[in-house]
Amino acid sequence: MTPTDQLRAMSEDHSAHNYHPLPIVVADAEGVWLTDVEGRRYLDMLAAYSAVNFGHRNPRLTEAAKRQLDRVTLVSRAFDHDQFGPFVGELAELCGKDMVLPMNSGAEAVESALKTARKWGYEVKGVPAEQANIITFEGNFHGRTTTIISFSTDPDAKDSYGPYTPGFRTVPYGDVDALKEAMDGSTVGVLIEPIQGEAGVNVPPSGFLRAVRELCTANGALMIADEIQSGLGRTGTTFAVEHEGVVPDVYVLGKALGGGIMPVSAVVADADVLGVFKPGQHGSTFGGNPLACAIGREVIAMLRTGEFQERSRTLGAHMHERLGRLSGDAVREVRGRGLWAGVELTGKARPVSERLMGLGVLAKETHETTIRLAPPLVIGRDDLDWALDQLEIALKG
Ligand SMILES: *Cc1c(COP(=O)(O)O)cnc(C)c1O
Repeated sequence: MTPTDQLRAMSEDHSAHNYHPLPIVVADAEGVWLTDVEGRRYLDMLAAYSAVNFGHRNPRLTEAAKRQLDRVTLVSRAFDHDQFGPFVGELAELCGKDMVLPMNSGAEAVESALKTARKWGYEVKGVPAEQANIITFEGNFHGRTTTIISFSTDPDAKDSYGPYTPGFRTVPYGDVDALKEAMDGSTVGVLIEPIQGEAGVNVPPSGFLRAVRELCTANGALMIADEIQSGLGRTGTTFAVEHEGVVPDVYVLGKALGGGIMPVSAVVADADVLGVFKPGQHGSTFGGNPLACAIGREVIAMLRTGEFQERSRTLGAHMHERLGRLSGDAVREVRGRGLWAGVELTGKARPVSERLMGLGVLAKETHETTIRLAPPLVIGRDDLDWALDQLEIALKG
């Protein structure tokens, strides 16, 4: 038995089977490269679903983490600490908003945004008790909690977890008329991924995000942009909503905010929205902890340079230009923006990601027929071209 087989057998025997990982066991990583327990190297074209936007063990981020590890790591929100004020201030400024509610995982931040919208709806908008509704879109992915999967349209994510949380209406992604139809005086929020990640990197029709913004304004509902995967540089701008010049009422952030080191998430909005929370009404033991804040501050400082957005924009244009030439027997469609692509195949995607792995490139299929490409934004042009060469080979079968 190889070390890989041995370790995989242990995972298989003792871990719940809620994932179907590629048959690799990673031992270490640097930048865009992963090394497995047998010394083989792979180019990471997934970047932990955009949580590793700045590359594995980015020196600026590991330095910030190490500095903080030697000072203080956790005090709970019962006490303030010297990283907290600067983190929330700097993140609010990056988003152009007043206030930040820090949490840990993405799903927690989405839950917090839903609670924010309901509380705001009752206490500010004046919706009658228990009547609030929130609109979501078909194909959405916002996390795995019981409430969040209540409005999922993916049977794998949803089935056998009922009874489901009421108060959500789901309309087709990109359908302005359906959205208009679904909204009423009790609508407190519209929760939207500016680009649907898990659904296969679905870019909405041009003008859709602007239409959502206008309908939210007209109906006095909060536009809640889940930028957990699309935000923080992935699409060539800090936020994916910028491609349509749209400013949501609420940003939901996660993944890359933790620099690939810690789970760090946040809800960001103005004081008239996040101001609804008073002491004791919401919280998290680990949310806003010193280590998370120190890493998050470094992530924000890196984003402020604009370097990563620029890399995603120029290398992403190059990647999409090459992917656009792929069409043929194997490829039905290529979607995406910046260094982010969903390559829709005519056949099953799993065998392609397995062949890619054999060629030294790690990319994971999403659903049955889509290969998702989302390399760390620090990738060099030569490495990117090499990975795309391997994809061409893998697609030939
Ligand atoms: C990953 C993701 C989430 C959930 O984040 P977790 O940290 O896995 O809970 C929510 N929304 C979007 C758009 C995501 O991509």
